[in-house]
Amino acid sequence: MQHDDIGFNSKAVHAGILSDSLGSAVTPIYQTSTFSFEDADHGARCFAGEEKGYIYTRIGNPTINELEHAVAKLEKGYGGIAVSSGMAAVNTVYLTFLGQGKHLVAHNALYGPSRAIVESLYVRFGVESTFVDATDPQQVADAIRPNTSLIYLETPANPTMGITDLEAVVAIAKKHNITVCVDNTFCSPYLQQPFDFGVDVVLHSMTKFINGHADIVAGMIIARDKAIYDRLRPVMVNMGCNMDPHQAWLTRRGLKTLGIRIDRAQENAIKVAKFLENHPKVEWILYPGLASHPQYELGKRQMKGPGAMISFGLHGGLDAGKRMMNNVKLALLAVSLGGIETLIQHPASMTHSKLSAEAKRIAGISDGLVRLSVGIEDVEDIIYDLNQALAAV
Ligand SMILES: *Cc1c(COP(=O)(O)O)cnc(C)c1O
Repeated sequence: MQHDDIGFNSKAVHAGILSDSLGSAVTPIYQTSTFSFEDADHGARCFAGEEKGYIYTRIGNPTINELEHAVAKLEKGYGGIAVSSGMAAVNTVYLTFLGQGKHLVAHNALYGPSRAIVESLYVRFGVESTFVDATDPQQVADAIRPNTSLIYLETPANPTMGITDLEAVVAIAKKHNITVCVDNTFCSPYLQQPFDFGVDVVLHSMTKFINGHADIVAGMIIARDKAIYDRLRPVMVNMGCNMDPHQAWLTRRGLKTLGIRIDRAQENAIKVAKFLENHPKVEWILYPGLASHPQYELGKRQMKGPGAMISFGLHGGLDAGKRMMNNVKLALLAVSLGGIETLIQHPASMTHSKLSAEAKRIAGISDGLVRLSVGIEDVEDIIYDLNQALAAV
């Protein structure tokens, strides 16, 4: 039963599984660097692309291709390109759509390195860039120049939780023939499918929700159509940021439970958000599932659920943030997100500590900001832990 309109969880379990001649329930790990040809003509046909055959693992491998197929199905895209990390996905997209004299428009609150490499590395190759608050689509429209070739977004953004109206930005991009890419890591395809809004490229750090077990670093790019896929694929192959078959196999295993993991984490996050909203030591909270979120209505339209990521601010700034970090017992004090375990971090003393006060202000990072990735533990235990850590603030 592999017809196309099976549900999300059915696809997550079954899509792309390559049973072998023994009837294995799971695609084997093809832990091989190369594949032999039957004869010279077979090799020639594979290289000419006249016959689908495996040549070399950097170019393609059955275990990796299965994962690419499954994630592309879940995102409703044409094809997936698996890569070694989320940052490999970002770089593959930048290298494909940017170049000498080209201009990038991007959201100002991005995953740190996704912005830093533009300003430190791509600038050396003549790439121009403008960072705007994309939650206001007019700012995107105003930033466009004749040489703009890529609009790059994260929604909800990290760690401000700002939501960008994808339909509005795509409408602006279409007028100027500009490619739009969305980093969909925070939502995963379970909660948001950017192709529904006309986006061209979706990427993921599969290190986060898609694998979901904090044991793999991995990335994926999904193209809307064949023309875009055919531009991206050779960049990955030639840059050599391919995935490893074992990494692909573990990620495929994690993907099978994506829906039920997010359902549980989100159910917990809604309760945790309500607890935090009413706690006297909490100054503010940003969570798309609370009516107090500035883009609450847009979030409801664009996302299938509010997700498991919460940002909140403590009264008392830097010291309060550090004290809370030093007193959690169940939650892990760690960066990353989207795993089965609750993770907590304090950007002002951790991920964003090197930014100037002005850069922190622009990125929306106040000294008391805490970022929480809610896991699948028993919610009473998560709330008990946060409550006792807040008592020490
Ligand atoms: C973690 C993350 C990345 C980078 O992914 P890696 O797998 O760590 O290379 C990119 N974008 C977002 C939103 C992330 O959270």
